[in-house]
Amino acid sequence: LISAKDLKKNFGKVEALKGVSLDVAEGEKVVVIGPSGSGKSVLIRSINGLERPDSGELTVNGIDMMAKKVNTRKLASEVAMVFQGYNLYPHKTVLENVTFAPTKVLKVPKAEAEEAGRAYLERVGLTSKLDKYPDQLSGGQQQRVAIARALNMHPKIMLLDEPTSALDPEMVNEVLDVIKSLAETNMTIVMVTHEMGLARDAADKVVFMENGLVVDEGTPAYLFGPDSNERVQAFLSKIL
Ligand code: ATP
Ligand code: MG
Repeated sequence: LISAKDLKKNFGKVEALKGVSLDVAEGEKVVVIGPSGSGKSVLIRSINGLERPDSGELTVNGIDMMAKKVNTRKLASEVAMVFQGYNLYPHKTVLENVTFAPTKVLKVPKAEAEEAGRAYLERVGLTSKLDKYPDQLSGGQQQRVAIARALNMHPKIMLLDEPTSALDPEMVNEVLDVIKSLAETNMTIVMVTHEMGLARDAADKVVFMENGLVVDEGTPAYLFGPDSNERVQAFLSKIL
């Protein structure tokens, strides 16, 4: 569903991606880990069209991301992204936040978008907050709204870039639980996280990046086991 071949991306002298290849099958859950600055966000942002690689091949659900003119409308209806910050609209209620993009981008009728939005908000445990504004919610609640908002775009592919790293520790688990429940669906998920427990529990495949390259990848059992690349071992020994 996602195919990247030899992707390169420079920012001035910084080589953010030095030839990254990645394949993600339909329904697969891929977790990307690695040290700060290794290119994880640039890779995931490239999949969402927020960055354009300098060279290589990248197709996302049949869309050629390296084409002169990328079909951004089609892309927006297939790929949703949840960031570290929550980026909610501050002047819209929780329900409005979740229904805005589907009505505007996908032209879903308002009543339909609201009904689906309520269902997703129930799924992330926020039924009691429909009429609240973002600043009336905790960080964990805001991030759950952001996830419900992404889900209400009915994406085929969900991208998450460190969805829990801006949260106070006591709010991390409520968001992790929501993400774990997503991992039980047939949605295709590519996620960057520093939560190794999540990688272990939710991933079909874990990809380790360092210095703009994929150094090793495999099942959680392999990657977190004794036989993975020594760079992976060194990284894990520092953070676990
Ligand atoms: P972290 O774990 O800290 O989020 P990361 O693996 O996501 O790190 P990236 O954000 O992908 O790292 O960055 C890879 C490299 O590219 C870094 O050296 C970063 O400084 C650089 N970089 C990323 N985006 C830009 C940009 N817009 N302009 C200039 N340099 C950038
Ligand atoms: Mg990052």
